[in-house]
Amino acid sequence: MSSKIIAIANQKGGVGKTTTCVNLGIGLARNGKRVLLVDADAQGSMTASLGIQEPDELENSLVNILEKVLNDEIIEPEKCVLRHQEGVDFIAANIELAGLETSLVNVMSRETVLRQLLTPFREKYDYILIDCMPSLGMLTINALVAADETLIPVEAAYLPVKGLQQLLKTIGRVRRKLNPSLKIMGILITKVDRRTVFARDIIEQLREAYEEHIHICRNCIPLSVRAAETTAEGKSIFLHDPKGIVAQGYLDLTEEVLGYEK
Ligand code: ADP
Ligand code: MG
Repeated sequence: MSSKIIAIANQKGGVGKTTTCVNLGIGLARNGKRVLLVDADAQGSMTASLGIQEPDELENSLVNILEKVLNDEIIEPEKCVLRHQEGVDFIAANIELAGLETSLVNVMSRETVLRQLLTPFREKYDYILIDCMPSLGMLTINALVAADETLIPVEAAYLPVKGLQQLLKTIGRVRRKLNPSLKIMGILITKVDRRTVFARDIIEQLREAYEEHIHICRNCIPLSVRAAETTAEGKSIFLHDPKGIVAQGYLDLTEEVLGYEK
């Protein structure tokens, strides 16, 4: 199988992008896949949830590596990645990444620098998952340009239709101008409180509005405090609460993603 790059994107924060990136990534690794996770958010939440406590002291984080690519330096993939004990490699991020957005403005090929960076990683990994920041700025555009597919987590807690429209418009624009082969893997409904009718209503509305054009993942990710706890633990839901509903949700998502290989 050739590698697949998946950008996990939604300009709204708190919808479960980072949680999905970590747990889908580790889920795939548990199935023997070689997985690289890329933290493309200056907040570094993914980096933190993979157990890095002092991200500012890292020698190699996404910003340094992107700068090397911009300066046409050769990068050595092995030296850029960190390893997590649950079998995934990752490229970390820290707050320095925040300055990059503005410095990219005047750069030639500013939308394709992440794609360029990831090219030598493709042969080493089966899956590369990019955890996008909560905006549609230059870094998210870079992620969509680098990606083969995008997975869109949507929280079942408010009416997400408007924000989604904006994201889909951006994806359409990226497709027309920069990455014609970009596919939408699907919408993943997250943080579903099974006890409420409200959540069911939102799922219903999402299906009505989008199902005709966009795949909506078979399974939703349920809401559970156990998921929120993993962030501080530095481990996946599969270790933190293996028998819980969120672990089951991410197992199902992993199966679904693996199913696309066939
Ligand atoms: P994003 O990356 O889109 O901002 P996160 O993955 O960081 O979203 O999730 C936002 C917050 O919600 C975090 O505190 C996280 O721990 C929590 N969270 C994520 N998924 C769930 C879930 N299924 N149930 C409960 N809390 C969750
Ligand atoms: Mg995040």
